[in-house]
Amino acid sequence: VVFVLFFVVECSIIFLRLYRRGLDQLDELRLERDRVQAAYEVKSQFVSVVSHELRTPLTSINGALGLLRTGAYDSDPAKARNILEIAHKNSVRLSALINDLLDLQKIESGQMSYDFDELDLVSIVEESLAAMESFAQTYGITFVLFAPEEMVIVQADRDRLHQVLDNLLSNAIKFSRRGEQVEVRVVLRGQRVLVEVQDHGIGIPPNSREKVFGKFSQVDSSDRRSHGGTGLGLCIAQEIMAAHGGAVDYTSKLGEGSTFVIDFPFKD
Ligand code: ADP
Repeated sequence: VVFVLFFVVECSIIFLRLYRRGLDQLDELRLERDRVQAAYEVKSQFVSVVSHELRTPLTSINGALGLLRTGAYDSDPAKARNILEIAHKNSVRLSALINDLLDLQKIESGQMSYDFDELDLVSIVEESLAAMESFAQTYGITFVLFAPEEMVIVQADRDRLHQVLDNLLSNAIKFSRRGEQVEVRVVLRGQRVLVEVQDHGIGIPPNSREKVFGKFSQVDSSDRRSHGGTGLGLCIAQEIMAAHGGAVDYTSKLGEGSTFVIDFPFKD
């Protein structure tokens, strides 16, 4: 009897263990299924956002070209030129969007490659300011640079660093009011170096961090109409700076302006 009892208890324990293991595996499978489903939803949402983003400028280009094709504006060159300008603006936006999408895809698949070199950050900032000068002029914005006299050597990918700086500078221009000034500072802080881009423009409301750094997101949905942009720039800038051992951050006051800062290590 003792033997049978022992046998029954042993069998029950084994059965309970197997049953528990089965339940655990079932939980894991359910978790895995939820993960796959969530990834699938993110992907299909991404595809629908991307198609929408691509379709908007394309529709505008098609519309403009269609109008010109009818010859309706042959006798009004000023109007025809205006329509061509719209088509051109949208094709520029389309190629910026495609470049940003390709960058995003490279980042997300871990295939973004960097060509690191020892570079003088002050010269890089000066080059970016020079490249942005005519864009700033069309918005009536002036840049003022504050930088150390000596070279500030950083390990960086020249093109990617320009991409980040161009993004910060063009945002500072776009979100300033005509006639305002944008100050750019290169600041050494311990073993870190900061580049601050300070504007005195429209500013950013509190709790907007997700919109500022999110994919395709803009703080004000009318920003896109009035300022263009893809809403991907800062999301990509964050990834680029992380690859440099640094970060992008900002402080802002609504109506008073924003300061965007990149910081990363520098070499003594
Ligand atoms: P884009 O400029 O292409 O829209 P970004 O990722 O560079 O995309 O910026 C995301 C959003 O963050 C902008 O659309 C804008 O709403 C906000 N933003 C960025 N820089 C500034 C700034 N200097 N002042 C005010 N808002 C800004």
